[in-house]
Amino acid sequence: MHWPIRRFAAIAACGSLFVMGLAADSISENVKKLHFSSIVVDTHDDTTQRLLDPKFDLGSRHADGSIDIPRMKEGGLDAIFFSIWISGKITGPEAVERATKQINAVRETVKKHPKEMTLATTAAEVRAAKKQGKIVALMGVEGGHMINGELGVLRKYASLGVRYMTLTHSVNVEWADSSTDKAMHNGLSDFGKDVVREMNKLGVIVDISHVSDKTFYDVLAISKAPVFASHSSCRAICDAPRNMTDQMIKDLASKGGVIQINYHVGFLSQEFRDAERKDPSINESIAQEIKKRCPDENDEGCQLIEGDKITREYVAAGKLPKVEWTKIIEHIDRAVKLVGAEHVGLGSDFDGANMPYGMEDATMLPKITEALLQKGYSEGDVRKILGENTLRVMSEVERVSKELQKKVAEGK
Ligand SMILES: [Zn+2]
Repeated sequence: MHWPIRRFAAIAACGSLFVMGLAADSISENVKKLHFSSIVVDTHDDTTQRLLDPKFDLGSRHADGSIDIPRMKEGGLDAIFFSIWISGKITGPEAVERATKQINAVRETVKKHPKEMTLATTAAEVRAAKKQGKIVALMGVEGGHMINGELGVLRKYASLGVRYMTLTHSVNVEWADSSTDKAMHNGLSDFGKDVVREMNKLGVIVDISHVSDKTFYDVLAISKAPVFASHSSCRAICDAPRNMTDQMIKDLASKGGVIQINYHVGFLSQEFRDAERKDPSINESIAQEIKKRCPDENDEGCQLIEGDKITREYVAAGKLPKVEWTKIIEHIDRAVKLVGAEHVGLGSDFDGANMPYGMEDATMLPKITEALLQKGYSEGDVRKILGENTLRVMSEVERVSKELQKKVAEGK
């Protein structure tokens, strides 16, 4: 989720079915061979908000939004982390209750589609599912406010299958600072450090997307396992505070971590970000329009999908700049030039952000493989970026967790 929904929202692929067909057809056989034999992992999708609507079926193809089983198959998207998200302003037991409801929604969705999907919690399970031709559902909690200040809640989420937690969303939590709020804790508080230690023990990946720079460095100093940025882009290209500086990307990589590039236009393109900032009334009127189209203020799924559509309408009307999907490649390439292909991955923010033109949904993903090959990347490097790097972080986090648990068992 790129932004508090009620202020702003996301996109949909209105009228793009024709384009999708063209995109798939134009991809060459050798690109397809590499892409569809690779394990493609996306570390951040907000599709969970749609799953809360009992009428939404992930198994059928939709004309809006970016993710469903048919389109994941068509685009060779093997595994996604469904984001468990609620606004950072909702705290306390309500936050726990709503997060648990979302975790259950993901688990129920997987149960409804046993032939096509499976839930995974380890890298080995993702690999096994790929062999069986099944799409993998994983889960990440987007915001530490959802543990309500209790390590027990974190343990409960882990036991239900959650494998990463983004420490904050857009506002601070009571133990960590966000990149888009006023610093209160000078990074992580003592309890925040305990949260990171507990995540290491549980084998839950520490996700540093959204956190302040100081929180990021506190995490790097404390975490015994590699960490990742599930959906962040490069600040040197677009100066959004929740993007990563070159130095942060280097420091993340030096601890074995991965930056998974976010496709949201406001994080990819300086021009788009400047246009939004220059005229705040644009986002205000988008928010008003969303309210009209989604009268139920708790229907986040509607708000995200409609927000994306409306943003596209503003682009079509020339009120916001048009951002092409090739910007994603620019960000990947910058990070690869900084730290090598071992530390870069994909974290789209599909169904929770404004997608660039040409990357409206999961069917477009082979274009990333094609573009990287055209840039001269080796097949091995492309596989790493598509998913192997994320799987490596998962395996490492699992290994560290086992070691730490063994130490506890031995009383060390
Ligand atoms: Zn987000």
